[in-house]
Amino acid sequence: MPSNPAQEPEMETEKIEVEIDDDDLCPICRQLLHRPVVTECSHTLCELCMTEWADVSITSQMTIVPLDEKPEDFVSAPLTAKCPMCRTMTSAKRSLEVEEKVKTKYGDVYEERDREVVREEEEKEVTVETLTVYVGNTVIPPKEGDEKGLFDWEFFVKVSDERVISEVEILLHETFKRPRLVRWKPPFTVRRLGWGTFVIRTNVILRHGYSWISSDAEDTKYSKKASLPLEWELCFDGEGSQARCQLKIRSDKRLARSVRARS
Ligand SMILES: [Zn+2]
Ligand SMILES: [Zn+2]
Repeated sequence: MPSNPAQEPEMETEKIEVEIDDDDLCPICRQLLHRPVVTECSHTLCELCMTEWADVSITSQMTIVPLDEKPEDFVSAPLTAKCPMCRTMTSAKRSLEVEEKVKTKYGDVYEERDREVVREEEEKEVTVETLTVYVGNTVIPPKEGDEKGLFDWEFFVKVSDERVISEVEILLHETFKRPRLVRWKPPFTVRRLGWGTFVIRTNVILRHGYSWISSDAEDTKYSKKASLPLEWELCFDGEGSQARCQLKIRSDKRLARSVRARS
């Protein structure tokens, strides 16, 4: 059979198109699964897609912990987050089994995809990091014989990385003289004397270029999803109490740069 020589060079330069089975595609990026993870709800997606898209809700995260626990003492556990596919709370595990499968099945295509992801990660302008946040209060009970019976309490917000915080807004009970306070730098605390406990509301606001990956986060006048509202009921038992939550923040270097250039 005579071949058509004119066609050959064109054939060689053409990119090899490989059909990828639907089962081997990540439902988020629609590309071949890369470093696949499997969630407890049985969804398989790329590790990066899970980190970037799984939404962490605060309420499910808040855990009462010993008062003396500090952010640096806490070793991050695998984060539970809302599955980007079905929105149930879940955590994801890397699946070497699925990875082997797609590697064997798509060889070159997987390798190319791997190179691409590594390149993208290196040049990346948007990164995701985990932040541990504590809210709580310490308290000194009224001394014996103290007629007024006032508790001396201090409310606090602590974070594992203070550099990402722009300000912390603290909203006290409206019967206080100045119920709204803003702390521009750590310590993010307020100390008062009082008779009773109440719920303190606080907004933890990130610096420009950062946003919370949480459906509970709110927009500020300047940035999207930069404010995280938290609530804490004062505790007058013992020396006080605190709760911990672990959340993800997205940092966009392009946004941060544009601010630095202006200032
Ligand atoms: Zn993906
Ligand atoms: Zn799911």
